[in-house]
Amino acid sequence: MSDKGWALTLACNRRDAEAMPEIGDVFPDLLDPPTLNVEEPDPDQPDAWVMTAYFSEQPAADLVDRITALFPSAADVVLAPLPDADWTTLSQRGLEPVRAGRFVVHTAAHADAVRIGDIGLAIEAGLAFGTGQHATTHGCLLALDRLARRRTFRRIADLGTGTGVLALAAARRWRRAASIATDIDPISIAVTAENLRDNRALAGRSPGRIELVVAAGMQHQRLAARAPYDLIIANILAPPLVAISRPVSAALAPGGVLVLAGLLRSQKQRVLAAYRKHGLVPVMDLNDRPPGRQRRGEWPTLVLTRAR
Ligand code: SAH
Repeated sequence: MSDKGWALTLACNRRDAEAMPEIGDVFPDLLDPPTLNVEEPDPDQPDAWVMTAYFSEQPAADLVDRITALFPSAADVVLAPLPDADWTTLSQRGLEPVRAGRFVVHTAAHADAVRIGDIGLAIEAGLAFGTGQHATTHGCLLALDRLARRRTFRRIADLGTGTGVLALAAARRWRRAASIATDIDPISIAVTAENLRDNRALAGRSPGRIELVVAAGMQHQRLAARAPYDLIIANILAPPLVAISRPVSAALAPGGVLVLAGLLRSQKQRVLAAYRKHGLVPVMDLNDRPPGRQRRGEWPTLVLTRAR
């Protein structure tokens, strides 16, 4: 697993988050210290923070304990491999096109993989996550493909857009929809802007366009201003998905659909429970379609709806 990154996530209170020390000061012994990040996912819950530590390799249990101990209020501690990390290796290998329903995600070098009737999405391997290679992206694309057969959406939000792949897929399927795509990482948003150009999609606020913003969770004035959404997609990790369950649920229109991924199978019930609390119920089970080499249902996709 050394070519994958790992993330340790935990919930904590504001005091612990604000008191977070510089990692180098507390652990001068570490050669490759993790990057620590704290965020307040929901401004309405000012004492509910989420800390994520990013490691380049799977951390030893004692290091996890030492980091957890920096946050006395720590709860919901989860250590999980990050979906994809070694972009150099991946791009050197050359990405094979990935098919999910009518969608085919491919690099420029594989444009010929797109056949009549397919919806081609041109995405290069780069600094952002989301080339379709990962099971979570694949699961979301399948969910969108299935939803497109029975629903029309007009107001779409893609949270944690990475390369923009899911926002682009949705915009191709629902051409008149007005979309917003966000990421906590400004690099992702820059990459997404490039990918919009590569796919001849337009940035902007009107129907048929995708507005791009840098935002953590639902924390952005534009996300609030454009709500409610009839489709929200969020492929992030389980702890942030739980942390933002309230504002995300509140931003979903009655009868709207929420597609969630990034959670491991072991985290599915916890994520479902968080969203059920806010009135959302599952509508589809997509876990019977595992892509390629992923273990069966290791990264489930949840499709939820808000009862009318
Ligand atoms: N949607 C893409 C990328 C998923 S990877 C796909 O399906 O392939 C998850 C993305 O979420 C990363 O780009 C990461 O930067 C972003 N992210 C992580 N935490 C976030 C948060 N709290 N709010 C918004 N984006 C977040």
